[in-house]
Amino acid sequence: MSGCVRCGLPENYAGIKLDENGVCNYCHFYDEHKEELTDYEALEKKFSAEIEKAKQKAKENGAKYDCIVGVSGGKDGAYITYQLKHKYGMRVLTYTLDNGFSTDFGKDNIANLVDKMDVDHIRITVNESKLRGYYSACMKLMHNFCSVCFHLCHYYSHLLASQYKIPLIVNGRTHMQVLQAADSTKGIEPFEISRNLADFEYQMFGRLVEKMASTKRLDYLPEAEVTSLSYFMYHDVTDEEKMAFLQEKVGWNRPKSKVPHPDCWAHHIAEKCSIEKLGYPVRTGELAVFAREGSMTVEESVAERERDTQYFSTVDPELEARFYARIKKR
Ligand SMILES: [Zn+2]
Repeated sequence: MSGCVRCGLPENYAGIKLDENGVCNYCHFYDEHKEELTDYEALEKKFSAEIEKAKQKAKENGAKYDCIVGVSGGKDGAYITYQLKHKYGMRVLTYTLDNGFSTDFGKDNIANLVDKMDVDHIRITVNESKLRGYYSACMKLMHNFCSVCFHLCHYYSHLLASQYKIPLIVNGRTHMQVLQAADSTKGIEPFEISRNLADFEYQMFGRLVEKMASTKRLDYLPEAEVTSLSYFMYHDVTDEEKMAFLQEKVGWNRPKSKVPHPDCWAHHIAEKCSIEKLGYPVRTGELAVFAREGSMTVEESVAERERDTQYFSTVDPELEARFYARIKKR
């Protein structure tokens, strides 16, 4: 096998360095920090301390809400909203970025969770010409469009938080998503908790953020001081546990297929772009975390990646046409 013998990351994975035994830098990082990353008792304490700080701050600010959570209709945002409200006793504001890629699965689950959880919800619609411009530019520059949704979600969560004087954003990034490219503690929770938009995006985009901020093409809301927490870095819960929990508590609908990101109808295109540009599918880094941490064998992780590669390498031409029509500049 070429690539890391321990986690199965391919040798062309972004930023990978293999040692003489064929073990990658991401595995070494994990080994060095394993204790801190898996002591969930200590992690939850850290999380609770931030929650208490936020409640206090919201009170001082005279804010109507203690925290804000983005919901796309998927399991992560829904699960977090429930836990923050019921377990942590927080006043939660939810919001959704309307990007035109939502599926019926996502829309129905949002309507259901807002109703059953009895939370306030804001829907953000971005100027259509601008949105198309962002998607087209991102495809042209990076052969990728997910980054646009990521950035806009982060941007609007920080903007709303700052307008409503909400001190905390809790996001649904999974343990695997946070750790998929971690080879230093910089910008990585729980080692560093971000207190503004640029710091938060550094977790995801690394140095690109510094570059984008310096060109002033994107606004990083320097005045918005908001703490961001990735809930699943502090709580050990599997995807299956989240879905079973939500089904029982709020009658949440499970996705009909096992394809990742059932809340986005263009996800298949995102996967194909990743395979064309990088040589591997979107979940590659996340699947390697499972192998590294031992919840999958390296063979299972690689086989799953190969299934994704095969499945996503070709796209229904109708879907492709719908996607390009969606992002076409006006
Ligand atoms: Zn590795």
